[in-house]
Amino acid sequence: MNTPHSLLASVFGFSAFRPGQEEIVDAVLAGRNTLAIMPTGGGKSLCFQLPALCRDGVTVVISPLIALMRDQVRALREVGVEAGALTSGNTDDETEAVFQALDQGRVKLLYMAPERLASPGTLGLLRRIDVRLIAVDEAHCVSQWGHDFRPDYLRIGELRRTLDVPLAAFTATADEETRAEIVTRLFDGQAPATFLRGFDRPNIHLAFAVKDTPRAQILAFAGARKGQSGIVYCGTRAKTETLAQALREAGHAACFYHGGMEAEERRRVEVRFQQEDGLIVVATIAFGMGIDKPDIRWVAHADLPKSIEGYYQEIGRAGRDGAPAETLTLYGPDDIRLRRSQIDEGAAPADRKEADHGRLNALLGLAEATACRRQVLLGYFGETSPPCGNCDLCDRPVDVFDATEAVRKALSAILRTGEWFGAGHLIDILTGTATPKVKERGHDQLPTFAVGRDLSKPAWGAVFRQMMGRDLVRPDAERYGALRMTDAARPILRGEQSISLRRDTIQSAGARPAVKS
Ligand code: ADP
Ligand code: ZN
Repeated sequence: MNTPHSLLASVFGFSAFRPGQEEIVDAVLAGRNTLAIMPTGGGKSLCFQLPALCRDGVTVVISPLIALMRDQVRALREVGVEAGALTSGNTDDETEAVFQALDQGRVKLLYMAPERLASPGTLGLLRRIDVRLIAVDEAHCVSQWGHDFRPDYLRIGELRRTLDVPLAAFTATADEETRAEIVTRLFDGQAPATFLRGFDRPNIHLAFAVKDTPRAQILAFAGARKGQSGIVYCGTRAKTETLAQALREAGHAACFYHGGMEAEERRRVEVRFQQEDGLIVVATIAFGMGIDKPDIRWVAHADLPKSIEGYYQEIGRAGRDGAPAETLTLYGPDDIRLRRSQIDEGAAPADRKEADHGRLNALLGLAEATACRRQVLLGYFGETSPPCGNCDLCDRPVDVFDATEAVRKALSAILRTGEWFGAGHLIDILTGTATPKVKERGHDQLPTFAVGRDLSKPAWGAVFRQMMGRDLVRPDAERYGALRMTDAARPILRGEQSISLRRDTIQSAGARPAVKS
């Protein structure tokens, strides 16, 4: 069956919903009239495209921007979805093709500009085809007081009455007056299911730590929160089992959960977690979809999540009751290498891989942030906020230093050795450590040999990790993970751009006092 989740991955190539999307999709699929207010870039289109694919019949999308419609139609067709647009920008041939596809019942999404509703044939056409949903993009255009008023938007209410199908309206403009006007004009004053929640979950404390002694770090974090319900997410099934065992040995109630288990066994864990207080579930991301436990007090990531969306969704399972909740995400160079190679070795087309690298970069940027993490996280989803006072970097600002010279030295070591080596060997060269491998390759004769003696090996490790995190260098799977320079590093190498990095603060994960419950 085509569930929203399976289509999210198979059609759109996304691993997780963005904040708010799932609830909106559920409401639309349930046939409710819906008004969703989401920041620009928050992912509104998916909220009507996905339901359109899950349902029979046609979804009519009203949008004021021809360029945007054309973009969406093209993007949908590229992933094999039948979509068409009726706009003044069409050639006659294009319009004819859309009509034909409609006649043959092939169109899932039909985009049109509001002006189209004024033309006499349109209503008849829409009545003839099997319209099941009306989606209205930029719904604030219906507001006469707003800055984008489009008179033809006033016809949409009539369209909804005529077709008698649910309507889903989307906008990024949230002021109350506009909202009220949307409800009056599009929904005849009948309150729709309204989604306005911002992305922020202020009760969730955000923290990242460099993966140092991962098992000890997780045990310390959980140990400081004994008796509280929590989830530990791991990158592999095997790890969920060993870590659950380690937690049990440390006196916790803990069990593991992953997609390789029998359905019945998984169900047992879900029920236990739901009913028991203070159980820890060590799981792959297979755990959580159906979990609706309001008092999960903490979520830890033993491995870096796949994307910033995944991260947000997974930590978002904590503290649904609004009471304080804690999170900790561990990450290190191995995580970056693993996530990059998973993308590179996947079956996705090249542009989707690049987009996946971008989403990973966003998460790494969050991991290596130098100021308030919530600002970085919300900024990614299009929201602005003041420093939050509830993340590790607000608690304890990190030390940053001008790393321009260090990065240039590192890049030069990479280039002079032909982009064929990993961080360990490069750090040996930089710190002037004449290991057998260094001598054998003659790397002790390089001009870069020993130019980095001013930094310790761990400090160089932090520089390389952050260079990976900023996507200045990428591990190349075809060269056994050797680091190669990316284009983003060129301005730094040429001395046109400077860069600040964090001084590493490897801190014990349990150091922060637990939330009292
Ligand atoms: P809006 O219309 O709200 O401004 P879009 O619908 O254009 O935003 O989406 C913004 C971007 O977010 C697009 O590039 C889209 O591919 C991406 N996006 C949407 N949903 C997801 C998701 N669940 N995971 C990852 N990326 C997403
Ligand atoms: Zn903060």
